[in-house]
Amino acid sequence: MRLDAMLKKTDQALISCEFFPPKTDKGEVNLWRCLNELQVIQPAYISVTYGAGGSTQERTKRIVLGIKEKTGLSPVAHLTCVGSTQEQLGDLLNDYANAGIENILALRGDAPDGHDTFKAVDGGFSHATDLIEFIHGRGDFSIACATYPEGHPESKGGIADDIRYLKMKQDLGAICAVTQYFFDNELFFRFRDAADKAGVTIPLIPGVMPILNYEQIVRFSNMCGTSISDQVHQKMQPISGDLVAVADMGVDLAVAQCRELLNEGVAGLHFYTLNKSAATIAIVNALGIAQG
Ligand SMILES: Cc1cc2nc3c(=O)[nH]c(=O)nc-3n(C[C@H](O)[C@H](O)[C@H](O)COP(=O)(O)OP(=O)(O)OC[C@H]3O[C@@H](n4cnc5c(N)ncnc54)[C@H](O)[C@@H]3O)c2cc1C
Repeated sequence: MRLDAMLKKTDQALISCEFFPPKTDKGEVNLWRCLNELQVIQPAYISVTYGAGGSTQERTKRIVLGIKEKTGLSPVAHLTCVGSTQEQLGDLLNDYANAGIENILALRGDAPDGHDTFKAVDGGFSHATDLIEFIHGRGDFSIACATYPEGHPESKGGIADDIRYLKMKQDLGAICAVTQYFFDNELFFRFRDAADKAGVTIPLIPGVMPILNYEQIVRFSNMCGTSISDQVHQKMQPISGDLVAVADMGVDLAVAQCRELLNEGVAGLHFYTLNKSAATIAIVNALGIAQG
């Protein structure tokens, strides 16, 4: 199903789940098992990330096509500007169109390992805005984009810049924006209000990261500029060595966070699953919002 059609169904917030293409056979077995388990909550779509260095790009396509063929769930293919010329991006979009893939999450991408900053390749694109415009001109795709309630780490002009570029993404054809994960809903509400004032009308779908491994999330958050409140640190630090206790607490925190977001009328919840299913299923069931 197309993302634009999903978003028109306003009776219930959309649930979506993000997976990365596994590198090993064991990881792939786990992926299909998780997708099978997630059938119980019937996510509106499954998005599949696109690797920075080029190595996972074929795998992204294979997993996206596999989701469509094997599971009956709707896939959303992430696509970045990293390492690809317009011609290569165009070929991939043709492959997707021919396979009936209708939804793309268009991103700039991060610098590949070993590089400090993002650099467009000759004949490639510098920003997600360029990629969105390109995809929009190539075919009948439903295009989503990314946005950052706490500001993108490279934004020179802070959140005002991010909102300006978000509006540009909307004007170029993006129909919704999935956010970087955050733990402090107030930051998201402030960002949403400011975006609204700037003329952003597309839905902003909060990215939710259940904490299953505290140290890992502290590391990720330092890299991507997500703040972790003292309250979360205080709850997680004493139990950080006990992964079961951390996961239980992570689910409880995410349920409380999602409940408030739903009360504030968000159009959907996008779960960063890190290729695990149990926490997302537990959260969705606790909220009583399984789809289907
Ligand atoms: C939901 C989600 C999914 C993601 N999936 C992936 C993935 O699959 N693969 C992957 O490699 N990475 C992924 N990322 C990470 C993302 O690629 C990085 O955060 C990247 O640094 C920025 O991507 P972007 O699309 O937001 O870039 P952009 O929108 O291009 O923004 C990058 C920076 O440039 C600025 N900017 C934006 N537009 C312009 C413009 N037109 N002119 C000048 N400056 C501009 C912005 O303020 C920002 O500082 C994802 C992020 C999110 C939130």
